[in-house]
Amino acid sequence: MLVSFLTGVLAMEGVPNPNHYDKSIVLDVKPLRSLKPVFPNGNQGPPFVGVPPFGPSSTGYSPFFPFGSQPPTQDTPDLNQTQYTPPPSFVPPLQSYRSPTTTASNGPSSSTGAKRGRPKGSGNAKKKDKTVPQEPTLDVQVVKRFSGVFDSGISAAEREDGNVDLVSTVLMRFDAVRRRLSQVEYAKAATAKAAGSLMSNGVRTNMKKRVGTVPGIEVGDIFFSRIEMCLVGLHMQTMAGIDYITSKAAGADEEPLATSIVSAGRYDGEAQDPESLIYSGQGGNADKNKQASDQKLERGNLALERSLRKGNGVRVIRGEEDPASKTGKIYIYDGLYTISESWVEKGKSGCNTFKYRLVRVPGQPPAFGFWKAVHKWKEGLMTPRRGLILPDITSGVESKPVSLVNDFDDEKGPSYFTYISTLKHSEAFRITQQNTATGCSCRGSCAPGDLNCSCIRMNGGDLPYLNGVMLVSRRPMVYECGSTCPCNAGCKNKVIQTGLKFRMEVFKTANRGWGLRSWDPIRAGSFICEYAGEVKDQETLRMDQEEDEYVFDTSRVYNSFKWNYEPALVDEDPSDELSEEFNLPAPLLISAKSFGNVARFMNHSCSPNVLWQPVISEGNGEPVVHIAFFAIRHIPPMAELTYDYGVSLTSESRDGSLLHGKRQCNCGSGRE
Ligand SMILES: [Zn+2]
Ligand SMILES: [Zn+2]
Ligand SMILES: [Zn+2]
Repeated sequence: MLVSFLTGVLAMEGVPNPNHYDKSIVLDVKPLRSLKPVFPNGNQGPPFVGVPPFGPSSTGYSPFFPFGSQPPTQDTPDLNQTQYTPPPSFVPPLQSYRSPTTTASNGPSSSTGAKRGRPKGSGNAKKKDKTVPQEPTLDVQVVKRFSGVFDSGISAAEREDGNVDLVSTVLMRFDAVRRRLSQVEYAKAATAKAAGSLMSNGVRTNMKKRVGTVPGIEVGDIFFSRIEMCLVGLHMQTMAGIDYITSKAAGADEEPLATSIVSAGRYDGEAQDPESLIYSGQGGNADKNKQASDQKLERGNLALERSLRKGNGVRVIRGEEDPASKTGKIYIYDGLYTISESWVEKGKSGCNTFKYRLVRVPGQPPAFGFWKAVHKWKEGLMTPRRGLILPDITSGVESKPVSLVNDFDDEKGPSYFTYISTLKHSEAFRITQQNTATGCSCRGSCAPGDLNCSCIRMNGGDLPYLNGVMLVSRRPMVYECGSTCPCNAGCKNKVIQTGLKFRMEVFKTANRGWGLRSWDPIRAGSFICEYAGEVKDQETLRMDQEEDEYVFDTSRVYNSFKWNYEPALVDEDPSDELSEEFNLPAPLLISAKSFGNVARFMNHSCSPNVLWQPVISEGNGEPVVHIAFFAIRHIPPMAELTYDYGVSLTSESRDGSLLHGKRQCNCGSGRE
């Protein structure tokens, strides 16, 4: 257990095809600092406040990627397979600390079904009894814990040309790895490390460079790092703002064409008009504190010039500040633009700068436009929001207002209910759990790796959340600190009890009644809301069929899918893999018909963007099971939030078709 290892994805020079990498080779461990930085500096990554499990005692262990020390270059490595030589091993050792598992976290260990071509997890793996915490070690030993070639489940053809499922799973797998690395490691390097791991293991798609749309990427999709856009082929440059294609195949005089640009938004003083954009060319040290020089008509600038003549669509990605973080950025894919004109301007330094005007191709759904609209709604500049019925349906129960909006028809609102923010228990309800947990005895905030904290121990030694908002992995049960824990309100193990994190609205849908969506972008893993309502017992509920529509029932059959990180991608022992099967002390039925929160408006989808996870937090000295919803993937502003309602066993064969809860499926995903 006291070891970490490097999977061998080394020595790739001269190996053009990632399929042929021999991943079983384990070479000498080089000094970590010698790893060649390939991905951009730390400000691409999320500014997580990483808490290493053993704090400052882990001396000498520092982030591996000295990005800051590397001066940015004009043209960063092109991550297109044919021109790009992968870096040396990117899978650095995790800190060797391994979490002890408690019996409480041992769920039913049946294998988790893997959907959408993902490799099967080792759900049947035995759990090891590791109740004694191990001392951390800094020794990096090369041990082949993960033997055999990693099967990415992605074929060579799929790596070249993607589709919706591939794009979605690549991004999900990336973020699962990133969250895990952030959980156990230094957070700043997690994004780069996760990227290295996925790239070297062939978990990527759309590597074929193309002009125009990219299969599986939709206008409005959001990304939280530039590396995510590389992994799915939207923009293959990790630093340069202009990406382009040179078709050598078509002859030597063929000139470059621009494929995509990343606009830095307000940082560059570029226009904030959602329909057009003025973009500055690259080079000339325009935005650096160096001696400025004239920009040259070469590389990206030349490509934009050629694209202006040719009139091809250029993908535009708008970079914006992440409202949830001071230093993070969000990238919004705003669809295709054409270049309408170009000119040369004297910059502040007096040197020539190329300027390009880009105009959005009409007929595309709003993306950056939504972003700007939400800004205005929030600042009250465009009041009232069209179709606004109520500014806050929670009447102040939640810390953030939830608007009620209907810009579709005349219906004035959903039927009456009382807004509550959490569960309401009937007299008869008692949780059939033997051990009445008493909280931990921590002062301040509970810390990952602190095995004196009984709450952390229940979670296997890890903090189940990142940054107090993101679920790292699904697990049989998450244990939050409760009311008898003396830790402070800001304890990072108190998430679902601290309420809504996003500004949401209940809105009228075209064919599914009322629905729920967020004004804010939601990063994968983020807590959205819990399922509030009255806890019912099975018998009384069965009598009221109508109520079924508002019931959350854990005994339904749910599509299984893999969401957690793959241990091989973070150098962990596959036998330590967390089960994604829930382990509930008893089936839980919650009715939100008369009492409920925003969750009662979330519709069903067979291709959902929200998942649920049982969370125990203690209330009145008793452990209470809550159902908490988290984002499966990044969810753009104004996208409807949906989850899988599951299939009610009792309503299964009434008319021969499966019902989701009591509802016919209207999700339109075609996945039933
Ligand atoms: Zn705590
Ligand atoms: Zn604690
Ligand atoms: Zn606690």
